[in-house]
Amino acid sequence: MNQASPTPPRTVLRGGWIAAPRQPARTPLVRSEQRSPSPDRNLGHELPPVVREADIAVVDGRIVAVGAVGGIADDDVIDCRGCLVTAGLVNTHHHLYQWLTRGRAVDEGLFGWLQTLYPVWARMRPEDVHAAALVGLAELARSGTTTVADHHYLVPGGDDSVFDAIALAAGRVGVRLHLSRGSMDLGERHGGLPPDSVVEETDDILRSCEEVVSRLHDAERVWVNLAPCSPFSVSRELLRESAALAARLGVRLHTHLAETLDEERAALAQYAMRPVAVLEDLGWIAPTTWIAHGIHLDTAEITRLGEAGTGVAHCPSSNGRLGSGICPVPALRKAGAPVGLGVDGAASNEVGALQPELRQALVLARLATGNPGAFGPPDALELATSGGAACLGMPDVGLLVEGARADLAVWDLSDAPDMDDPLAALVLGPGRTVRTLLVAGQRVVDSGALVRVDLPAARQELATRARQLWARR
Ligand SMILES: [Zn+2]
Repeated sequence: MNQASPTPPRTVLRGGWIAAPRQPARTPLVRSEQRSPSPDRNLGHELPPVVREADIAVVDGRIVAVGAVGGIADDDVIDCRGCLVTAGLVNTHHHLYQWLTRGRAVDEGLFGWLQTLYPVWARMRPEDVHAAALVGLAELARSGTTTVADHHYLVPGGDDSVFDAIALAAGRVGVRLHLSRGSMDLGERHGGLPPDSVVEETDDILRSCEEVVSRLHDAERVWVNLAPCSPFSVSRELLRESAALAARLGVRLHTHLAETLDEERAALAQYAMRPVAVLEDLGWIAPTTWIAHGIHLDTAEITRLGEAGTGVAHCPSSNGRLGSGICPVPALRKAGAPVGLGVDGAASNEVGALQPELRQALVLARLATGNPGAFGPPDALELATSGGAACLGMPDVGLLVEGARADLAVWDLSDAPDMDDPLAALVLGPGRTVRTLLVAGQRVVDSGALVRVDLPAARQELATRARQLWARR
């Protein structure tokens, strides 16, 4: 008997304002509706994203229409009137385990802060990291985030099941995960910053990286990247071999770079080179790499990152909390480097939510340049969506166009009816959480609540485990 295949269920987001970021030049996407081509993506907020009332239809995890969408029977309708709809936010740098150690070493700069916390982090177990990741990912989802890059570089005893624990937490919350298999192999004994108790052997790291990629990387819900922690905590050999392995496995590279002047001095002492030259020498400066922070870059380094298309994860609150400095975001974007936003670990940004970072990014860019025209709300949205997706090599994420993945955030603006511009309300207005969050068209947050995770219970378990960790010897 010839049976017609059933029509796949359709979700329609009806009647919201939509704010679509401009499409970064480096992330081509085949699509039927080519809106607002970006002849010059360095125009700042003089080239605004589209903000207008529209419907968005979703089938099989993808956006299938943007505009006026007629109704059909059995549509799953999400009423978005009075709401702003954006692409889901993309968090490009995090250390989820740090939810276990929020609010410590509050007056330290990076090196002192790390040296206070390294010995505590050395005592973490995979189940502690799972509890931290569950809360961290849940809080990010509430703040509109659909893709999270986590950089995990502490693997006590070489037990890499900790990466399975983080991936499990992402699956429980329902967000996409860029899981960076971090590593450190340069302890104090060999001139590095971390204590010897938290570093691994180089060969063990490389073997584990390959195993974690083969176990968890599916390029649909989990992407595994290789991520030696920072030039002051890893060997030259690990950096070089990681780049070669990433190329062989077809995965991306991530590390911290140019975060502080202490780090710059360490690079000059260890390598007699500036930070970008260190990575260049070891095969890292490429479009498949994104770095965290990128603060202390000189003009030639900015130009080089732009030429290469190497991405930068801008972490404004963490940089302020540690007094590290301000990432030169407008200059990097002008040079052509993809720039995304990151919350960084919750031990240096206790908020742990991405939406407030849009405002932080705008404020810092204007303070750093002394120019209110240097960076506007559309720029902030672009960093948080398509810019972050470009850092992570996800050309079909962070856009509101047909064919893009249906990762969508619905922001209820009923508390700001006095503000005419909904994007200004999102970026410049108060911190807020989403009303609805969709990942691949599936609800992760609904009516302001997480669909699959009991957040109060998860917070309680995290608090218990954090107390046990601090008491553990
Ligand atoms: Zn970091």
